[in-house]
Amino acid sequence: MAEFTMELNDEQKEVRDWLHGFAADVIRPAAAEWDEREETPWPVIQEAAKVGIYSLDFYAQQYFDASGLGIPMAMEELFWGDAGIALSIVGTGLAAVGVLANGTEEQIGTWIPQMYGDANDVKVAAFCSSEPDAGSDVASMRTRAVYDEAKDEWVINGTKTWATNGGIANVHVVVAVVDADLGSKGHASFIIPPGTPGCSQGQKFKKHGIRASHTAEVILDNVRVPGSCLLGGKEKLDERLAGAREKAKKGGMGVPPLERSREGGRVKNAAMATFEASRPAVGAMAVGTARAAYEVALEYATTREQFGRPIIDNQGVAFQLADMRTQIDAARLLVWRASWMAINGKQFTAAEGSMSKLFASETAKKVTGQAIQILGGNGYTREYPVERMHRDAAIYTIFEGTSEIQRLVIARTLSGMPIR
Ligand SMILES: Cc1cc2nc3c(=O)[nH]c(=O)nc-3n(C[C@H](O)[C@H](O)[C@H](O)COP(=O)(O)OP(=O)(O)OC[C@H]3O[C@@H](n4cnc5c(N)ncnc54)[C@H](O)[C@@H]3O)c2cc1C
Repeated sequence: MAEFTMELNDEQKEVRDWLHGFAADVIRPAAAEWDEREETPWPVIQEAAKVGIYSLDFYAQQYFDASGLGIPMAMEELFWGDAGIALSIVGTGLAAVGVLANGTEEQIGTWIPQMYGDANDVKVAAFCSSEPDAGSDVASMRTRAVYDEAKDEWVINGTKTWATNGGIANVHVVVAVVDADLGSKGHASFIIPPGTPGCSQGQKFKKHGIRASHTAEVILDNVRVPGSCLLGGKEKLDERLAGAREKAKKGGMGVPPLERSREGGRVKNAAMATFEASRPAVGAMAVGTARAAYEVALEYATTREQFGRPIIDNQGVAFQLADMRTQIDAARLLVWRASWMAINGKQFTAAEGSMSKLFASETAKKVTGQAIQILGGNGYTREYPVERMHRDAAIYTIFEGTSEIQRLVIARTLSGMPIR
């Protein structure tokens, strides 16, 4: 087990500086253009692929960093550059992790390279779970996957929504219901290979922020995929379903999934434990956006003069900056703690992953708003980046579980009570 440390080692510092250079030289200068275009920044993804940032190797290296700080450090730097472009770069990683976590070695070897493509022909991937009637309430998912035994194929029907890279992805990872009686225990994940008939893009959303990241519906109309596209394989699924049915018979399924999260003060449900481990990464993205806005505001406050002195000479401005920085540092510490706990297999007895995501995302929303205020009229225009950062920051309190859902998870974990 790695000791918890608040200091990056030399190798990590080198990676951080390299990422910061890419964020400052390539991502930030392109941010305003791709925000206005509301399109996937393919040339920037290609640049990231050329230098090795857009690759499974890079992602895996950070993911398996024994200190747990690899992913939060990488996310903070890339999202410091720009949230929309950074999400376009790391969005594929979210789908790849779905395959890494649940897939067989053969599935990992077959599909992950096709998710990334190569530097001359970059591809992206999408992870599709949310549906129009199943957002926070994942258990009410309707997309169905039915096994056609004669052909050893799965037939998938349904509509996914809010999918990052949905419809433009080379490979889609789709979560579907295989046994409707088992709630979220009856879900399974499938690979939809490139060009599969019946899989198409629905509405592309015009968004408030992270506009360089493509978000769309994915329509699944009698999509047929080979049996080998079920992540983890049929045998493992049958075993898992049999276990869940057995538990259901004994009365274990009568409560909603969030309420089964605590037993003896520990997060017990496997899906909940996975979320606790992945949420700090979103917290780190929020820290990156917050830090970017704070830096712009600090620089502006020390150079902008009113009443014959820099505006930071006023306590009203200076104290805001002091609070902004304090909250950003506190958010980072919560994120690092949870990331360290995740890599070292620590039990999330107080939902520390959710805590880090909740605090960091709320901090980003608040701090970017304060940055606008400090820049005055300039802050409100697109001549300066803080209004974009403020629009971008609003996503962190929504995706990967809203702030309200994080609070529910934390409160239920702490109390063991079915709080609604
Ligand atoms: C830009 C963007 C990208 C996304 N990318 C992906 C992706 O790649 N893949 C994917 O699968 N999904 C993705 N999502 C979906 C995202 O995870 C959902 O939007 C999110 O989970 C919330 O679901 P919802 O939008 O249906 O809101 P709802 O669940 O309808 O919630 C609406 C409001 O009600 C509140 N609420 C709901 N239930 C409770 C409760 N029990 N207690 C208190 N308050 C409650 C919520 O907190 C929220 O404020 C993305 C969303 C966006 C906007």
